[in-house]
Amino acid sequence: CGIIGILGKHQVSPQLVEGLRRLEYRGYDSAGVATVDDTGRLARRRAVGKLVNLSDRLVLDPLEGHAGIGHTRWATHGAATEGNAHPHNYGSVAVVHNGIIENFRDLRAELASLGIEAQTDTDTETVALLTGHHMAQGLAPLQAVRATLERLRGAFALAFLFEGERDLMIGARRGSPLALGHGNGEMFLGSDAIALAPFTDRITYLEDGDHAVLTRAGAAVYDANGQPVSREPVRIDVGS
Ligand code: GLU
Repeated sequence: CGIIGILGKHQVSPQLVEGLRRLEYRGYDSAGVATVDDTGRLARRRAVGKLVNLSDRLVLDPLEGHAGIGHTRWATHGAATEGNAHPHNYGSVAVVHNGIIENFRDLRAELASLGIEAQTDTDTETVALLTGHHMAQGLAPLQAVRATLERLRGAFALAFLFEGERDLMIGARRGSPLALGHGNGEMFLGSDAIALAPFTDRITYLEDGDHAVLTRAGAAVYDANGQPVSREPVRIDVGS
């Protein structure tokens, strides 16, 4: 129901939770974060219910790293359990998703025939499985994500994070909103400008069908045909 992503200068877990707090108004039934730490290790924490359950978990079991993604979930496929909470991980990839992957049953069957079994009841997990599978076959992160996007039907905003990649985040949108936030040597992704208000007021709204490759130095945006496009940032005033 809400997405945040940060390539930052500071420990991102508390910032991710802060961004998710700004998205609380949308409602949610679980929340989770994933980070890549300074050794390149990808890890996640998730909790059912209020955001405080996630932040309590992070106090007991902190998640290090200057790169991370976070999610609040409004379950559409699969009960509101910790196992179904985002981020969903497979192989070298973690993904958060808003929306619905309409053809997930077909994709899941196809993956199962390759010996890749779903572990959750969500439509989202198929996005992680497909992308992780593409990477295991040797595709670089961007190529793997593109190969996945080509297969997806439905409405989505997605954010991807990768094992071993401390300065890379990929976002994509079709039917659900997603914005980029520009900092000084930091980059952000969010469902809306409100989520990013604590960090920056310089926002690029992605257009429908866009995907974006983020590093701390900036973002490259591609349209639905994979062509590079320039999307001008705007200064927004959402208060804070
Ligand atoms: N369809 C996904 C799920 O049920 C994402 C829901 C959302 O937008 O939060 O896990």
